[in-house]
Amino acid sequence: VGCGICINRCPFDAIMIIGLPEELTAPTHRYGPNAFALYGLPVPQAGRVTGILGPNGIGKSTAVQILSGTLVPNFGEGTGNWEKVLQHYSGTALYDYFSEVIDGNIKVSQKPQYVDMIPKAFKGKTSELLDKTDERGVLSELIERLGLTPVIDRNITELSGGELQRVAIAACAARDADFYFFDEISPYLDIYQRINSAQLIQEISKDKAVLVVEHDLAILDMLADVVHVAYGQPGAYGVITYPKGVRIGINQYLKGYLPEENVRIRPEAIKFEVHPPRVETDIETLVDYEGFSKKYGNGFALESENGSLKQGEVLGIVGPNGIGKSTFVKILAGEINPDEGKLDLTITISYKPQYIKPDVTMPVQYFLRGISRKFDTSYFQSEVAKPLNLEPLYERNLTDLSGGELQRVAIAACLCRDADMYILDEPSAHLDVEQRSMTTKVIKRFAENSGKTAMVVDHDIYMIDMLSERLIVFEGEPAVYGKAHQPSSMQDGMNRFLANLHITFRRDEDTSRPRVNKPDSRLDREQKASGEYYYHN
Ligand code: ADP
Ligand code: ADP
Ligand code: MG
Repeated sequence: VGCGICINRCPFDAIMIIGLPEELTAPTHRYGPNAFALYGLPVPQAGRVTGILGPNGIGKSTAVQILSGTLVPNFGEGTGNWEKVLQHYSGTALYDYFSEVIDGNIKVSQKPQYVDMIPKAFKGKTSELLDKTDERGVLSELIERLGLTPVIDRNITELSGGELQRVAIAACAARDADFYFFDEISPYLDIYQRINSAQLIQEISKDKAVLVVEHDLAILDMLADVVHVAYGQPGAYGVITYPKGVRIGINQYLKGYLPEENVRIRPEAIKFEVHPPRVETDIETLVDYEGFSKKYGNGFALESENGSLKQGEVLGIVGPNGIGKSTFVKILAGEINPDEGKLDLTITISYKPQYIKPDVTMPVQYFLRGISRKFDTSYFQSEVAKPLNLEPLYERNLTDLSGGELQRVAIAACLCRDADMYILDEPSAHLDVEQRSMTTKVIKRFAENSGKTAMVVDHDIYMIDMLSERLIVFEGEPAVYGKAHQPSSMQDGMNRFLANLHITFRRDEDTSRPRVNKPDSRLDREQKASGEYYYHN
């Protein structure tokens, strides 16, 4: 407020945006009078991966449409024409780029954001979809590297989210293009698959321009060479900054302040702890559980060690897809029984499943109010509803919500129930980077303030790192067997987890965020030799 930029309400709660960034004087494109406006553009460049870091609804797809030549930017009014575009960018890297676009020399290959839509658009087998994209003669290698061989003869409609995501990545990468755009690679993928896909995309960028949008910051950090930070007010306007080195860009984003632009994008910084949380021994035990096992008819077997859960702690749960994490939490939650006996935990559990499907049609507000009277307390409103930005959803119908909207409602619903323990299965799914950080804060403060225990299953390392005091690590062979280890300290758990992944992390000097070490770098080798995969001082 007072900065003159915000069209509606200040998105940063009356935090002044200091100074008017130059690019705010004239937009790159405006959809119409009072419609969404985009300021700035990312600059794709052969030989590097360019990342965009920022919330959804800020104009990323609009920018890609412009860069692929399907939308002519109008610089704020009327209909655009290419001559004006060239004039506007004369003397910049975008001039050369758009000259090529106009001459029809830029071929674009895109991976869409929402892979769940693919089965609606394509009926047929995986092989039929992929064969058409084999323009570089590398398809069979991609299928192999992305682990798609087992699903190649299956119908697209039968694939899981993670399989669809990898099919979409393969299809985009197989094409022969000049400009590749990956609109998120991590949804539905575990950390093994995310790293694998990131490496594959880096190889493409050796001689091609690659643009990625990614909300998993550990992955964006290892994948991109430069990032454009995107900020603004989702749905109203978006600003894309000039490119920044990936480390600097992510650090500025986390701190919430962009010095070059002189813009504060968030009132407070997102912070990481340098040291693992201490494991307090004198905290009261919430519940002890015996070891258990579960075998499904299709042969998958889960084995869990015994364990002890403490009052008020947040436990992270990590491991690959298909290893039994959801089965484990469902058994703890009493939704399914282990093979022998019943895990008779005398505690009540509130559980947010991984896949959320609304089974009732009603406005969000009635749904949440119907769960508990807690919903109307000022505590719940200020600590949960507000940070999750639920108010704009109150009148909307549960069945009309997008994936990210439904996720926020489901997290709130889980925390609204009265229980001794809260289990959240993949809360980061469908959330953008800003929403993930808010969700992390909400869960952490909720556990701290209410003294209730929480378990969070997630693949986003930043979220797990910020949230967890202890860790339950899963190992095994996906879809065949899984083993749940006892809860351990963050240090022991992360070291075990990352040793399986063959990667090491260091802490950024400036923000303390974890950063993946370059494979075979000096630090990587030292840390592997000493078994310090995660915490290294
Ligand atoms: P992102 O990719 O960052 O999520 P988009 O570029 O898809 O954002 O959209 C940014 C905003 O522009 C949204 O509010 C969207 O409703 C609006 N928008 C997108 N396309 C059009 C269009 N053809 N006409 C008017 N508004 C549009
Ligand atoms: P994760 O949460 O680690 O991805 P899950 O617990 O969802 O793993 O699944 C572990 C394995 O068990 C997978 O191979 C999955 O296909 C299988 N599975 C999960 N639920 C069932 C079920 N109800 N019936 C048969 N198999 C199942
Ligand atoms: Mg799961």
